[in-house]
This record gives sequence, C-alpha cells and structure tokens, in this order.
Amino acid sequence: MTAATMQTQADQETMATAPGASAPADERAARFIDVRGLEKTFAGDGAPVHALRGLDLVAHEGSFLGVMGQSGSGKSTFLAMLGGLSHPSAGSISVDGIDLYTLPGERLADFRREYLGFVFQSFNLVPYLTALENVTLPLAVKRMPSADKRARALEVLDRVGLADRGGHLPGKLSGGEQERVAIARALVNEPPLILADEPTGALDSETTVEIMDLFAQLHREGNTIVMVTHNP
Ligand code: ADP
Ligand code: MG
Repeated sequence: MTAATMQTQADQETMATAPGASAPADERAARFIDVRGLEKTFAGDGAPVHALRGLDLVAHEGSFLGVMGQSGSGKSTFLAMLGGLSHPSAGSISVDGIDLYTLPGERLADFRREYLGFVFQSFNLVPYLTALENVTLPLAVKRMPSADKRARALEVLDRVGLADRGGHLPGKLSGGEQERVAIARALVNEPPLILADEPTGALDSETTVEIMDLFAQLHREGNTIVMVTHNP
C-alpha cells in the first residue's frame, strides 16, 4: 500500500493541529500517533511484496481515523505495525511519544498491554467462556480483587448495551452482539488507543450501523480510534 492508495479519513478535529501546543504533554497529545516514512516489504518465494511504501501520518489524541483501501492494499499490515505486532522495513511509528520499534521486545509487549485494545472482524471470542468471562480475560494479569474485575467487566458490557447477556456463551449471541462483546473486551483495560480491523466486515448492514454508532459514541467519550474498513 502506498500513502496514495490508502485514504486516511480524518474528521475535522483531526485535521486541525492543536495551535500553540507548547507543553510536552500538549505536543504529545497533538502528535499522539506519529508515523514517518513507513514501509513494509514482505520477502516471499517470488518477487517481494511492497505492502506499504512510505506512509506519513499524524493524529492527535481523541481522533477517529478511518483507514480505507482495496483488499490487499496494506491496511492490516499498517494496523499490525501500529499495534506493535510487526516491525517496519523502514520508517518509524510513535504513539504518545513512545517510539515503538526502538523498544526492546519486552517493553513493546508492555506497550501493547497498556496502550491497546484490539477489535477484529472475526470477534476472536473464546467459545467456551461466557460473554462476561471473555470480557474479563484481559484483566487476568492485573493485580486487583476478582470482584472488582467482575464489576469492571459488567460495567463495560453495560456500556456496549449487553448488561443482560453476561452469562451467555458467544454461540448463543448474534453477530452484532458478539462484536459488542469483542469491543467490550477491548475496552476493559481502558486502553488509550483502540485499533479495529474491519470490525463490521462480517455483519449485515443494519448491525453495521449499530456498531458504527457504538464506535462514534466511544469517540465522543474521548477514545482514540483507528478503524480499518473496506471500500465504501
Ligand atoms: P489489506 O488488509 O488491505 O487487505 P494486507 O495488509 O493484509 O492488506 O496485505 C497487503 C499485502 O501484503 C498483500 O499483497 C498481502 O498478500 C501481503 N502480505 C500481508 N501479510 C503478508 C505476509 N505475512 N507475508 C507475505 N505477504 C504478506
Ligand atoms: Mg486486512
């Protein structure tokens, strides 16, 4: 994917760089996501695949970025690199002033745990755990009383409109409800950055609208979101 083939649709707010940002904290917020000269080349059996050739992008904290492009244009590759999961071939990515790929592996893992909530198209819920248990999973490594974990998970389930479905297994939920559970799981740690890869790709159009409304609500509440969608 090239910068030209990937349209980055930012809302008005995103386009405006914070004027007079002087304090380091303001500057960090203004360049919350800072991508420079990003490239990714996959060396396969045949000719190398240039998935990304030079992407520059800046987004401030609280942005809602939509990443669009044809299938194979490098959207997931970009998201994986932004999520600290795949080293760029060239260029850099920093989030909140943290230059991701200069970190040692262990610190990069810390970054992922502390900063990111991932939402995938295929939900990736654990089928034999209830909705509530799925949402509680990311809290497993946290040192907090289990009653507090449960309360926190219930709170986010409520936020996505599923307060009464906590006891259901994923298989007993509709596609839209499973996606909501996946979103709740991504939110439970209150991550500063939410990454979503075609979160509505498997949903019908009505449910897609519901899920997009939910993301819009999360954006209004101040979350920073990067969402990959297929072409409109
Ligand atoms: P999108 O998400 O926009 O559909 P991807 O980022 O998945 O696109 O893929 C971009 C290009 O990089 C495609 O041509 C794909 O085949 C290639 N690609 C992605 N991941 C790998 C990989 N691990 N090894 C080799 N090629 C890959
Ligand atoms: Mg993809």
